[in-house]
Amino acid sequence: MTERVEKLVIIGSGPAGLTAAIYGCRADLEPLLFMGTKYGGQLMLTSEVENFPGFPDPVLGPDLIMKMKSQAERLGTRLIQDDVLGVNFNLHPLEIRTSSGLVRAHSVIIATGANPRRLNLESEMKLMGRGVSNCAVCDGFFFKGKKVAVVGGGDTALEEATFLSKFASSVQVIHRRDNLRASAALQKEARSDVKISFTWDSIVTEVIGESRVEGVRIKNVKTGEQSVLQVNGLFVAIGYDPNTEIFRGQIELDEKGYAILKNNSESSVPGVFVAGDVHDFRYRQAITAAADGCKALLDAEKFVKQKLVPQAVS
Ligand code: NAP
Repeated sequence: MTERVEKLVIIGSGPAGLTAAIYGCRADLEPLLFMGTKYGGQLMLTSEVENFPGFPDPVLGPDLIMKMKSQAERLGTRLIQDDVLGVNFNLHPLEIRTSSGLVRAHSVIIATGANPRRLNLESEMKLMGRGVSNCAVCDGFFFKGKKVAVVGGGDTALEEATFLSKFASSVQVIHRRDNLRASAALQKEARSDVKISFTWDSIVTEVIGESRVEGVRIKNVKTGEQSVLQVNGLFVAIGYDPNTEIFRGQIELDEKGYAILKNNSESSVPGVFVAGDVHDFRYRQAITAAADGCKALLDAEKFVKQKLVPQAVS
């Protein structure tokens, strides 16, 4: 183990982690950022981004991440493409274990994001970003006047459906049961929307199309009957899994595995801060994740300065 204690370790390389790094360099915290082997987060699977301020022309999701990464690097962030394998937050300095060894740090920002659940269909992955999406706010605009389908029966699915009905000519919600789990208020809104209709007891078995989505094949799970629905877009809204497995037992998580904030952006462990979709199941936008990274850094900066030079911070 090295004797060096880092001022700040950031785990995660989406907009939250990279923004924390940019601010961290300017706060002289010399951040060390573990990117993960599959770095960049959800933007790496997104095509055109039109709603990130500062880009008058659409920017590709991976290009946006590369720009943030270059900015963080230019300012002095040390970026390492390792996965973090485990942490020990019972000790201070905090310990972070990766395939390359053990690192100790005064503060940590967790920005590991959340993964949208997939239908796990080959055709879904083939057409991801080409008609298949996990984010209506990001991609709904591209479906003006077109037919779309949404899979899921929870709050996200109905919120997506209601949002999409502003643009699309019709929205078909496909749910695997005949009972929605979404809140009563969201159900009321969706059910009273003339553009939204429901296909019950059904699952998507294939996304049809070569280079763009042209339809979905669905199967009624009660009757076994198969049919094809012609749509131009498919929004998969069947929930998210926050990437918190390595933090289980170390910081407080809610029943779905999302990190719980205790004091502004601080987790249940002093010196461990949280940013982005790993705690935020409500907004889930690149811009809100970036803003969260900034907030976590400002809190971490205060913590580290207090620790290293207690009299310097009031
Ligand atoms: P969720 O509540 O877990 O709902 C997921 C939905 O997808 C369920 O209807 C589930 O069906 C369906 N599903 C899961 N796996 C599937 C599969 N493989 N194939 C087909 N369907 C599948 O997830 P969520 O809607 O993303 O919500 C997550 C959390 O965020 C919830 O606590 C929610 O209340 C909260 N949230 C709140 C708001 C708000 O307050 N405005 C907005 C969004 C989310 P079953 O019903 O059969 O299990």
